[in-house]
Amino acid sequence: MSESEKPSQIGKNRSDESQPLILPGIHRYQFFTNLKDRGWTLNLDRVALFGIVSALLATTVKPLLRGNPATIYCYECRACYATQDRCPVGISLQAELVVAGRALDYDRFIRNGGLKCVRCGNCQSFCVQYLPLPRMFEIMQQETRQAILAGIVPQESLIQGLQQGLIGKEFIDDVVKAIS
Ligand code: SF4
Ligand code: SF4
Repeated sequence: MSESEKPSQIGKNRSDESQPLILPGIHRYQFFTNLKDRGWTLNLDRVALFGIVSALLATTVKPLLRGNPATIYCYECRACYATQDRCPVGISLQAELVVAGRALDYDRFIRNGGLKCVRCGNCQSFCVQYLPLPRMFEIMQQETRQAILAGIVPQESLIQGLQQGLIGKEFIDDVVKAIS
């Protein structure tokens, strides 16, 4: 191990003279990019970056694999809330349904009335991205139905959904079967 690589020297070299000089100040930059000069604690920024990139990939890859990629494009701007009483079943937070579809969050989807959406498309014209909201909601409805039948959705969510009239007639039988 050379003198510059000893643990006691880690983080003390402010430049790497062995690197070619391409730009003024490049040695300082190379210090930050040269792993051999940095102890693992000095690489926390890289660990954090890795975590952020992994979370980002999980957020985007999951909807892609599940066939609901349009959910990735939602800005969460909430412009679709302008649908208001044009939604025939009184859903007021369409963006919540989109986010629930992206994250595969069944409880959030049910709580916000996802299972009573009749996919009329009235909210689509309010979306700044003109996302295919009815199709996105339909995909999540089918995924939620499968999860209900598989017993994955918590019973409390289903009971609360029934009590609050949040379950559309297409799904009533499956929900009743799941809680009985
Ligand atoms: S598509 Fe669903 S959420 Fe949108 S207006 Fe129609 S019923 Fe409401
Ligand atoms: S208007 Fe469109 S992009 Fe904005 S929150 Fe609603 S669905 Fe997402």
